[in-house]
Amino acid sequence: MRIAIYPGTFDPITNGHLDIIERAIQLFDKVIVTVAVNSSKTPMFTGEERVELIQSILKQKRFKNVSVERFNGLLVSFAKKKNAVAIIRGLRAISDFEYEFQMALMNRKQSNAIATVFLMPHEKYTYLNSSIVREIARLDGNFKDFVHPIVFRALKKKLSL
Ligand code: ADP
Repeated sequence: MRIAIYPGTFDPITNGHLDIIERAIQLFDKVIVTVAVNSSKTPMFTGEERVELIQSILKQKRFKNVSVERFNGLLVSFAKKKNAVAIIRGLRAISDFEYEFQMALMNRKQSNAIATVFLMPHEKYTYLNSSIVREIARLDGNFKDFVHPIVFRALKKKLSL
């Protein structure tokens, strides 16, 4: 059983994240989407809300081998607890590289047994991240194509649009 964790803030989950999850389940027997609740960022959605959104989407999409969990603390310790062999990260552009490179090497220093695997999304998602979706939503722009309908409705509700 090869387990991977896919950590992130997911504030909220976008179609770019879903694209990465779909690629990851081709490679691993099980993928645990791992929602960080202790990051330095101040999220728009609470940890619970972010997990619930992901859960509802996974249910609708009938992804069998994907689950979602909240986590805080050291990522590598969480990965070990889950018997994961890999950490999945998405790479969109060179701008992602420096931070991801640092994290991957630091995580490897913590545990050599856990590899970081970088996956590239479809080109149409390379300019997408959660913060731009939040910003467009806040400004009442068009963000329908970037998120699952469940997230679209949750954002509208959160912003009372
Ligand atoms: P973090 O705060 O850990 O960067 P995010 O939720 O922003 O959390 O992202 C989680 C992971 O998903 C990161 O590896 C990020 O590079 C990746 N990711 C985010 N948006 C996209 C996208 N549009 N396409 C591919 N990967 C993405």
